[in-house]
Formats: sequence, C-alpha cells, structure tokens
Amino acid sequence: MTNGSTNGPTNGPTNGATPNARRAVFLDRDGTITVERGYVTRPDELALIDGAAAAVRALNKAGLLVVVVSNQSGVARGFMTEEDLARLHERLEELLSAEGARLDGAYYCPNYSEGVDERYTRDLSCRKPNTGMVDQAARELGIDVSSSFMVGDHATDVELANRAGMPGILVMTGRGEEHLAAIEGGNPVAARVAADIGEAVAWILERATAGTGRGPDG
Ligand SMILES: [Mg+2]
Repeated sequence: MTNGSTNGPTNGPTNGATPNARRAVFLDRDGTITVERGYVTRPDELALIDGAAAAVRALNKAGLLVVVVSNQSGVARGFMTEEDLARLHERLEELLSAEGARLDGAYYCPNYSEGVDERYTRDLSCRKPNTGMVDQAARELGIDVSSSFMVGDHATDVELANRAGMPGILVMTGRGEEHLAAIEGGNPVAARVAADIGEAVAWILERATAGTGRGPDG
C-alpha cells in the first residue's frame, strides 16, 4: 500500500511510462456506479446502478481507460477491513464482467482523519478531494490527467476534478441532489450535471471523439 490507497487487483501495466499518455475516465463508486447504501461492507450489498455497466462498456469500446477512485473511510472507522474492501472490489468486477464491462484500474482510500484505527488517520493525501488516487493512477497507468474526465455524485468528486485539472461531471444518482446547490453556486465548478453515469458518459464520448479528426486510441 502506498500513499494510503489500496490498489485493486486490475491495475494493468505498472512498469514504466507509456510512450503516449492515455486518456481516462475516473469514476466514483458509491452513488455513481453502484447504488448508494451508506457504508457498504459486504459483497451482497453491492448493486449496479441501471446503465452503469453499459456506460463502462461504451468507454471500454472507445478506448478510454476506466479507473475507479473511491473514498472508503469505513476502514478507518472500523466498519470493515481492507480484506472486506478487496472482496467488494472483486464483486464489483464480477457484476461488470457479467455485462461485458471491465475496469482498467481501481483505487480506494481507506483513510479518514477521525478514524478509530490510527493506521488510517494520518495520511489523507488519497482522500478525495485530495488528488492522491488520481496522481497514483496517472503514474501507474500512464494517464494524461488534463485530457481525462471525472464523474461522481459528490461535490468532493467535482472538487477533485478542479484540483487535478480535468472536467468534473456531477451525476444526480446517489447523493447528487444533495450536492447540486454547491455546484449551482459554482464552488466547485462542474463541467456538466448529468442524470446518471449513462448520460455523463455519452457527454464525455461526444467531447473525447470530437475535433480530432479521428477516434480515440484503441
Ligand atoms: Mg459517491
């Protein structure tokens, strides 16, 4: 574990930079890909939001990397272990795979300042809206963050996008409606508000493939 984040088992090539930095779509998990249910700790509590697998599949097909970046402070709070978190990730991959979709990377931040387990209270660099998970993914997967996108249901997801220098899209699933006022107030600044991940990805694909005279890599 580095920088307090937990790598999923699907982190792809990690040795050296790729010659051409790649474009990615960073996705929040709870409330964006999976149904928001407070602190999900067991695999059987995980369910995909309608259209999420199809959206990920569309990104796969377009050649954009798909990378989950998720705050999971339930570890620091003592609600679950990192092993539980790994099992949840396996289940997420199973659910996506069953619909022909795959993740290229997944980063989870177990840390939280008020956690009960001191191992997880000190380093908050990975905790959104801090950019630690995006920075790590960029290094490990050879991603050009400035030409990438972030989708999530919290203002902190959009704030992360602002800090990292990429467009942030707020979705109205999960806790999206609770965070809409902040977005409408312009702090943080969202590039788009979308009904759900399907609408967000359609918007991203229009932009990612426009004006280059060619499609995205892959
Ligand atoms: Mg969320």
